[in-house]
Amino acid sequence: MAFASRGLPAPAGAEREAGGEAPRQGVKLLENVGSPLQVHLVGESSGADFSDANCYLVCDRTGGEAMVIDAGTRSAPLVLKRAAELGVRVTLLVSTHFHGDHTGGNALILEKTPAKMVVPAKEAALIAGDGLNPGEKKQLLTFPTPRIDVKAAQGDELKLAGQPVKVIEIGGHSPGGICLHFPGQKLLFTGDALFKGSIARVGIPRAAKTPDAMVTAIRSRLLALGDDTVVLPGHGPTTTIGAERAGNPWLQPPAKTQKAKSPGKTAEKK
Ligand SMILES: [Zn+2]
Repeated sequence: MAFASRGLPAPAGAEREAGGEAPRQGVKLLENVGSPLQVHLVGESSGADFSDANCYLVCDRTGGEAMVIDAGTRSAPLVLKRAAELGVRVTLLVSTHFHGDHTGGNALILEKTPAKMVVPAKEAALIAGDGLNPGEKKQLLTFPTPRIDVKAAQGDELKLAGQPVKVIEIGGHSPGGICLHFPGQKLLFTGDALFKGSIARVGIPRAAKTPDAMVTAIRSRLLALGDDTVVLPGHGPTTTIGAERAGNPWLQPPAKTQKAKSPGKTAEKK
């Protein structure tokens, strides 16, 4: 696939989840998620030569304001159509990182809406198409984003319909990808940092060589959130922080077998 965005396989020795998620088409409202805001998902599509990530439309129906997260080439027209049907104005457009399946639709949405373009501070140049060699461009970018309004970094806060949206930076899959946390609604949009049962791929151009630092950041910054936080990833199904804390093979504490067999304790019992 073009963007190598899928998660890492489970670490050695861990069980892999059986069965892949079939590509999902169309737009659906995620029921009972994020109230009083509404979250609509434009499911990731797949094709022979490219794919789109999950694209989300988060809206405040009362105020008529909305945020789009990770617009791809195919999802952008679908999300615009849904926003028009709902009668909401897209005021913020966020890309969690520079990869083309998360940014390919930015130009269209910026053209058709008054949205401010929010990108990770550490990837602003890459999203604009600067500094990538032709091979990287072909593999990773699709289309450069024509305008950037906000460069978002760790600890920054955005606002949607008066609700705070915290920026959490998780580098590794890309230089400084961002997650968006809606504390009031217990929502966490993770881009490609954290998936159900997996984490982002590394070892691709502009990514870390190993997942170690990314795992540390996910543990300290994402697992710090409550178990009932709903995780909405860039690929694959929705999950929760609690489910990933309990079952994601990359986020499990080190095995305790070594401690149990530690010479001191064994010696005491003898
Ligand atoms: Zn990616």
